[in-house]
Amino acid sequence: MIGDRLNNALNNQVKNELESYYIYLSMAAYFESASLDGMGRWMRSQAHEEMAHAMKFYRHIIDRGGKVVLQDLRQLKTEWSSPLEAFKDAYQHEQFITGTINDLTTIAREEKDYQSEPMLAWFSEEQIEEEAAAGKIADELEMIGDDKSALLMMDRELGQRLFPAGSPFDTEGTEG
Ligand code: MG
Repeated sequence: MIGDRLNNALNNQVKNELESYYIYLSMAAYFESASLDGMGRWMRSQAHEEMAHAMKFYRHIIDRGGKVVLQDLRQLKTEWSSPLEAFKDAYQHEQFITGTINDLTTIAREEKDYQSEPMLAWFSEEQIEEEAAAGKIADELEMIGDDKSALLMMDRELGQRLFPAGSPFDTEGTEG
């Protein structure tokens, strides 16, 4: 059985992950409107992952006898002036999420909720990948600068990202 303090903090994290899903879907729309379909696809795949993260916390709360209380979602941002700005935002957002995972781990330890630790350790490792991926793309976009052909090459490369079978975010119907 999970205590109220950790239960509330986990409900807040369901919201954080759903807001992540929401911002990456906005970024996908921004890229696809600008005919950067590869980056749009990359962001839709990212949106899928964030939804899966939210559901992992959801499942944990239910399995531990807690109560899931869904909160209002904020749309964090809807306009970007360049691909670089969007990926810089993604990188910063993932750093914020890493901080929230750290805070949850602190609460779980203070509450002696050892059953949450394997799940939180999984997220902690996941955040290393999330920060590295967004950070690397932002760095590469910085190098590309105003070179349109390099931007298009990168768009093609990011468009290789696959979806889990049956993902509703795979709007081209090309499951990986
Ligand atoms: Mg996440």
